[in-house]
Amino acid sequence: MSDLQQKIDATVAVLKRAASEFTQVVFANSLGAEDMVLTDLIAKHAPDIAMFSLDTGRLPKETYDLIQEVRQRYDVPLAVYFPNSELVEAYVSQHGINGFYDSVENRKGCCFVRKVEPLRRALKGKGAWITGMRRDQAVTRGTLEVSSFDADNGLQKFNPLLEWSNKDVWAYIRQNDVPYNKLHDQFYPSLGCAPCTRSVTPGEDIRAGRWWWEDPEHKECGLHVSNGSKVAHGTGVQAVSSTSLQASRARIIEIAARPGVKQIETA
Ligand code: SF4
Repeated sequence: MSDLQQKIDATVAVLKRAASEFTQVVFANSLGAEDMVLTDLIAKHAPDIAMFSLDTGRLPKETYDLIQEVRQRYDVPLAVYFPNSELVEAYVSQHGINGFYDSVENRKGCCFVRKVEPLRRALKGKGAWITGMRRDQAVTRGTLEVSSFDADNGLQKFNPLLEWSNKDVWAYIRQNDVPYNKLHDQFYPSLGCAPCTRSVTPGEDIRAGRWWWEDPEHKECGLHVSNGSKVAHGTGVQAVSSTSLQASRARIIEIAARPGVKQIETA
């Protein structure tokens, strides 16, 4: 059996285990290459796992094209969650439409409004969630585990592709004719919002195009902040990130509490 087939089998086993041990298991589909592998595996082997994506309102056209392609290709429906419009309006009013370039705090505030708050709504009441994170994607992901409790969101979290390499991901996509974001063919190995993602040059780190103006240890959007419960015993990188995120949360909660802005749940 090939190394890739062993990883596929192990991943399917994790997906089936998650679906059997927990009720209401959801897959947070970022529509990146890794998550397209999981989309294909879930559709084929664990269709009881529901899929959702976050539309931040700032995605590139190619990502919207892929959302439509997934809908047409797979039987498992892809739900789409949007940001709270009043929070976005308050953020833009305070920081400007592109205020995320001004500081790490402002960037994480934007990510909180456009990603973290919708993610919390998507995960509310669920038993477990699945992500496509891989260990070698970023310095912030070195201490992840395949399965761990996500204290921030209050549910179990599975990272079944943790030990896959970038080469494994693309081998699976090619061998199974899995749809993928066409920006990957234009030197965008890691994709996010359009204004915060650039192409990379040969030899650059695969996440060098994400928030390229920041230091590598800040390059998380807050969706996976609960890694900190594990990383707190290790490098401390995530502890720095968590502190920054808490400041962003406090700022957004303050915005949300203003007269005329509808209150949201932030816990
Ligand atoms: S990636 Fe950029 S545009 Fe998207 S939510 Fe984060 S800061 Fe905002």
